[in-house]
Amino acid sequence: MGSMQCTGCIALLFLQLQPNHLRLLAVTHGHLDHAGLLPWVLDEYPAVPFAVHEAEQPFVTGGQQYQQLNGDTWTFTLGKYYMPKLNTSLPTSRQIVLTGSNGDVSSFASWVPKGLLTFHHLPGHSPGQVAYFQHSTKSMVTGDVITNMATSFPVSRNGKIKCDNPFLMPTHMYHDMKKSQQTLAKISGVETYFPSHDDGTGVSNADFQSFVGAQKDEL
Ligand SMILES: [Zn+2]
Repeated sequence: MGSMQCTGCIALLFLQLQPNHLRLLAVTHGHLDHAGLLPWVLDEYPAVPFAVHEAEQPFVTGGQQYQQLNGDTWTFTLGKYYMPKLNTSLPTSRQIVLTGSNGDVSSFASWVPKGLLTFHHLPGHSPGQVAYFQHSTKSMVTGDVITNMATSFPVSRNGKIKCDNPFLMPTHMYHDMKKSQQTLAKISGVETYFPSHDDGTGVSNADFQSFVGAQKDEL
């Protein structure tokens, strides 16, 4: 899902869908700008489940706040108190809980065609963030493992930014996030990465590899 500024736009997109066009809500992580609209969507589509990793599940079903986490950056340690508290309380009766470091979503929901959608657990920005790889389109939805907007959005966004690190305030474990970017770069078969807050064009594998390569020294 996109930025909070676009929540209304996303709602309109959902309203244009036919009921049978939406089969699964694949949650990357529970931050409000990614999951805040889900209670409404689940109400609108009562037959549609949501997938979430087990390490993120407590945050989207109402059991845990991100403020309870310890972080490895001062930006999170101080900034977490300014983050809005979650009021997302998704129904556990609709959840598909993903476990492990990666796998085929069909292993957790047998009606999903085998080999269509895999997930990759990429902690750091949040404990249970996952990226989803749709094999038929060779597309990877990264969540906030990477973004393609400037960290000072909206002031300095410009068309030249193709990959960037996510805004640091909500990232609780920066070092783990960087390792997750390396993991993401090693997954074979990806043609296009769709970073968070993307305009819909995505970035090429080559652009993503050069971004990750330039960050390696930080590890
Ligand atoms: Zn986030």
